[in-house]
Amino acid sequence: MVKGLVIKSTGSWYTVRDAEGNTVACKIRGSYRIKGLRSTNPVAVGDRVEFSVLDDGSGIISHIEDRKNYIIRRASNLSREYQLIASNIDQAVLVISLVQPKTLMAFVDRFLVSAEAFRIPVVLLFNKLDLYGEEELIQMNSLVEIYENIGYQCLAVSLKSGLHTDKLRALFAGSTSVVSGNSGVGKSTLLNFLDPELNLKTSEVSSSHQSGQHTTTYAEMFLLPSGGYVIDTPGIKGFGTVDIEKNELFHFFPEIFKISAGCRFHNCLHLNEPGCAVIDAVISGEISESRYLSYLGLMSDMGDKYRK
Ligand code: GDP
Ligand code: ZN
Repeated sequence: MVKGLVIKSTGSWYTVRDAEGNTVACKIRGSYRIKGLRSTNPVAVGDRVEFSVLDDGSGIISHIEDRKNYIIRRASNLSREYQLIASNIDQAVLVISLVQPKTLMAFVDRFLVSAEAFRIPVVLLFNKLDLYGEEELIQMNSLVEIYENIGYQCLAVSLKSGLHTDKLRALFAGSTSVVSGNSGVGKSTLLNFLDPELNLKTSEVSSSHQSGQHTTTYAEMFLLPSGGYVIDTPGIKGFGTVDIEKNELFHFFPEIFKISAGCRFHNCLHLNEPGCAVIDAVISGEISESRYLSYLGLMSDMGDKYRK
């Protein structure tokens, strides 16, 4: 039996890398299920597995080690089945731009909620610093203050001019990361910076939106020259939302959760209840208004979802 790391999945074949760095094309024996989750594929990029090698050089995976976390997405919009995308992720680097295109903070907060639910630490990477005017710089500084206070690491760079990019190699070295962000913010540019041999195509920011695409894509893991792995998840913007109940949404806003201990009612939803410590903290400025608005927005979306 050999131990290895799944670095690529194409549905039925998995590329597994052993301790010596050899790669073996593997299939899986038997059926594996994730507890409480209907999944269309049993093995994810990032899985640590045991396999045996057959005479023809291919391998059979016989064991998957427990995952410390994983990300999934719905197999299709209406489906109750999930596609397992990647596992054992140390950090998600969320690329943000305040211009061309402008990342909406509601999108960032949604992403952070899924990441909290999947227990994946997030680093916020503000890119395109070279394009920021005075107004954007003021905005960025206030966002950095808000998110650093909550506990999220923030970095600001320009991948184009090279400003502060020296910090990026250290950020990625020695860990397994996923890179996320809305289209046009510089994800491919970032991956090419980390490993020029990847030679990924970067795209001009176009005004035509490309929504509605839902092709099957498979994640792939790259070993960076400076150490560390990056998982590329082409076409996948978020992590797919796990089913969070309305009355527990605030658990995934760390600063709201912390302050909610002071609410008068233990089942407070922080909407308009008397004695709500969260609302008091929004008024006093201790909790940022934009974060609270994201909380309200998600709450009302969840209301829609359950309306008959
Ligand atoms: P992706 O869709 O997130 O992968 O974004 P790309 O990496 O394809 O980048 C989109 C566009 O933004 C490309 O034209 C890049 O050259 C450009 N871009 C990336 N980083 C920067 C930056 O720091 N400053 C400027 N001005 N442009 C950038
Ligand atoms: Zn409350």
